[in-house]
Amino acid sequence: MRHIECEKLSSTDIGRDVVLAGWVFRRRDHGGLIFADLRDITGIIQVVFSPEIAPEAHGIAHEIKQEYVIRVEGTVSRRPEGTENKELATGDIEVYVRTLEVLNTCKPLPFQLEDEEPNESLRLKYRYLDMRRPQVQKVFVERSRAMHVLRNHLVSQDFFEIETPFLTKSTPEGARDFIVPSRLNPGEFYALPQSPQLFKQILMVAGFNRYFQIVRCFRDEDLRADRQPEFTQLDLEMSFVDVDDVIALSEGVVKAVFETLKGVPLETPIMRMDFDEAMERYGTDKPDLRFELPMVELTPFFRETNFGVFKKVVGDGGAIKAIALHGRTLSRKDLDDAVDMAKSMGAGGLIWMRKDAGKLQSPIVKFLSEQETGSTDQTCGLQDGDVLFIMADTRDKVNELMGRFRLYLGTKYDLVRKDTFSFLWVVNFPLLEYSNEEKRYVARHHPFTSAKESMVNFSGDPGSIRANAYDLVLNGVEMGGGSIRNFRSDEQMAMFRLLKIDEEEAVEQFGFLLEALEMGAPPHGGIAFGLDRILMMLLGLESIRDVIPFPKTQKGTCLLSGAPAKVSQRQLNELKIRTVTVKE
Ligand code: ASP
Repeated sequence: MRHIECEKLSSTDIGRDVVLAGWVFRRRDHGGLIFADLRDITGIIQVVFSPEIAPEAHGIAHEIKQEYVIRVEGTVSRRPEGTENKELATGDIEVYVRTLEVLNTCKPLPFQLEDEEPNESLRLKYRYLDMRRPQVQKVFVERSRAMHVLRNHLVSQDFFEIETPFLTKSTPEGARDFIVPSRLNPGEFYALPQSPQLFKQILMVAGFNRYFQIVRCFRDEDLRADRQPEFTQLDLEMSFVDVDDVIALSEGVVKAVFETLKGVPLETPIMRMDFDEAMERYGTDKPDLRFELPMVELTPFFRETNFGVFKKVVGDGGAIKAIALHGRTLSRKDLDDAVDMAKSMGAGGLIWMRKDAGKLQSPIVKFLSEQETGSTDQTCGLQDGDVLFIMADTRDKVNELMGRFRLYLGTKYDLVRKDTFSFLWVVNFPLLEYSNEEKRYVARHHPFTSAKESMVNFSGDPGSIRANAYDLVLNGVEMGGGSIRNFRSDEQMAMFRLLKIDEEEAVEQFGFLLEALEMGAPPHGGIAFGLDRILMMLLGLESIRDVIPFPKTQKGTCLLSGAPAKVSQRQLNELKIRTVTVKE
């Protein structure tokens, strides 16, 4: 229907007769001449309807409206001097139309494609119009490019792209499953996969050596800003590898996608940090290292203190930690705001100290010995004007709250380096964490993660076991995570024992994997990256919904299609399902 796309034309085409097709983006009627910006996926070209050259086309051009789909035939010409448009890639040329055909009309638009961002419900309901907006279209062009680069890179590294089922059994990634009734097996249900974890391990047992998949995963969670019920992972698994192998391979992957989207080199290797250090210095397992502000341990200086608050915390085995804010002048109001902020985060209190004329000033200084203030000052390296914020509580609470307070300081005092991509591997995670709710240990990653020591005869504190697990963090956000797996069934069974999952339950849930591990399973490990989140960050977008073609709302609905929706009684009958209304 057409010779070439709009923005593929350039001044080298001047004099050429072309047929173009696309949407009418803008139309300007200058009395005599009518101009239209014709748009397609490549961009825009100006087309001109002249009453002298093509009276018939000019007549029809009077009728065309925004977003009509048209086909024109005409000659590429240089724009008259002074009428060039520097904003357009094709701004030095235009096409003088000879014939115009309206292929389709368009009703008045619910929002203007060029105006300010329409509200999100409208954008999602008319996603196809939203996607016509060049800046939105660009996101999905970039997404496609990134996926292509990932595939190419992995294939060049001898990976095989293999699909795994969507109608399957539960995968324990820690979220709720979406379930699908089975018509052929009334009363039984499939679970949509939270990840391809079990199948990718099975593929290793099957000898495929290196597997990848760009795959949809489903988790029925309450939706927050960066969560969607279905999202895309880049999922990998490799045989005969250790932690360093998976990390090195992953860095190649991240580098490929980063350099494609950002056009600048990414330095590798990416820095690594132990989980313990991340928690003790930054209070989180995903530190944002675009700014410093580490927590400093002060506990040892207050072992003998007479200051009641500290004395109690030290006596109870808690921690006293500080964050120093250097080189800022804080008013009394700033300090009060900081205290309020810490309290609103759940802190019992926050103590501040300021160094003035070589001495620490603070409402609590009078309760402290010279030695205590001296060591504090020295350890934190304070200069005049610097401020110190101190928290004292149980170690976990101090770490958690100071971690969040650090982020507040980073934003409030504009310490976060802009346009920086700070990648970090967090390694040496604990294998397990204690769930107060379930009164047992649960897996920190998932139950197939291997430990740094054998679990078979383990009799010590389960909380002390370290895992062969790693997370990739970018600017304080988790981008991906994985582990080396238990490839022998005795280790896997020992892990289930630590999790208090008995053999019967394990066999019922994951029997197929356990059996496979007994049939010559090779050592293996892998990782999965949250592709949507990576794209969101690299494209500088605020919401994960911006990089998902057809996202759901916070309530899990699709405003475009209207899903979820009721089904007919006939469908329910076929499934042998009866619905009842339950009062909450
Ligand atoms: N299946 C894991 C996840 O979805 C990733 C992995 O361990 O490879 O988080």
